[in-house]
Amino acid sequence: MKITSVEVFLGYAINVKINTDEGICGYGEAGLKYGNSRRAAFGQIQDYAKLILGMDPTKPEQIWDHLHRHTFWGMGGGAVVMAGISAIDIACWDIKGKALGVSVCELLGGATNTSLRSYASQLQFGWRESSKRHAPGKRTLLYKPVEYYDVVKEAMADGYTAVKIDPILAPVREPEDQSEIFRNQGTHVRGAFPADLLKLGEERIAAAREAGGDELDIIVEVHSLLDTNTAIELGQRLEPYRIMYYEEPTQPLNPKLFGTIGSKVNIPLASGERIYSRWGFRPFFEDRSLSIIQPDVCNTGGITETKKICDMAHVYDMGVQIHVCGGPIATAAALQVEAVIPNFVIHEQHIGLYRPQCIESCKYDIQPVNGCFSLPDAPGIGQELSEKEMAEAEKVVIS
Ligand code: MG
Repeated sequence: MKITSVEVFLGYAINVKINTDEGICGYGEAGLKYGNSRRAAFGQIQDYAKLILGMDPTKPEQIWDHLHRHTFWGMGGGAVVMAGISAIDIACWDIKGKALGVSVCELLGGATNTSLRSYASQLQFGWRESSKRHAPGKRTLLYKPVEYYDVVKEAMADGYTAVKIDPILAPVREPEDQSEIFRNQGTHVRGAFPADLLKLGEERIAAAREAGGDELDIIVEVHSLLDTNTAIELGQRLEPYRIMYYEEPTQPLNPKLFGTIGSKVNIPLASGERIYSRWGFRPFFEDRSLSIIQPDVCNTGGITETKKICDMAHVYDMGVQIHVCGGPIATAAALQVEAVIPNFVIHEQHIGLYRPQCIESCKYDIQPVNGCFSLPDAPGIGQELSEKEMAEAEKVVIS
């Protein structure tokens, strides 16, 4: 089988469709839908697409190695480079599964888990009903502890037994201009974190615990917004609330900082959405500064690389929660790996995955029931872009 053309889409997410001489096509996603590198990822896939024309997509390992070794920036690649490799790699696995009539998880060794428990992610943005009160496209955040109490109840009513909340992303009060929140984030990293916001952050988590009772699992994340000392202070404040794990408490690329936080805060630490490839994760494994790793299939190197990272983590007794914050293709790819790995902990279900624009971007609406996903069994990754998305997105064809 040979790759004949590659279609690259910049639409709801950044996606790729790889076409072959046997009429089978595969879909992938670059994990840079959010943040400010969408167009860079769109361009990166186009650059790499030129290098794989004529190659056999049923050999994803060979294609991965080619893009890694023969592109100069492949080795040592960061977010954009690895997102480009990821999108192509996922599409190749999709093609291979379709060609053989089996799911990717069968190709990876077959399912280990019987169902995939998920958590309601990023509740500071609201959940299915409370987020509908926000105007479309507007970034809005919950402010008062009582709103955190209510949103946890809302997610639990959907069947979720675990939630994730960033308790400090929302400032103390609602600003006039929502963009102010994101402008302010840079100052948080350098310390002098407002004491009133730290106190309110604790109150928000206390409200979530009260809503959830003893049984609910609560993941706390702070999007790397705190310096190490402040992350320790917040972590110590949150210890009494039985936190499942503490995600990206500080800047994500220095394992020693996590080691320092871990020595002073009695909550397991997690990170990984901004760590790329086996080489990026290696130091975190060697000093075991994390308890949970969160590689993103769509930016750490695709299915090929994520499976290897997860297996390496298993050696160090680390659990895996794949980071999912993209379109439905990203969810589908994550589920394939999660179904197989014995160190799977929980799946991330982001509030964004319930938004109509997200659902309409793909052919199938695959959602958890009572907070759990069924094991994927359709051929390939089991998800495709919708005709509408492919028609409306900005598109470049490489052939
Ligand atoms: Mg995160």
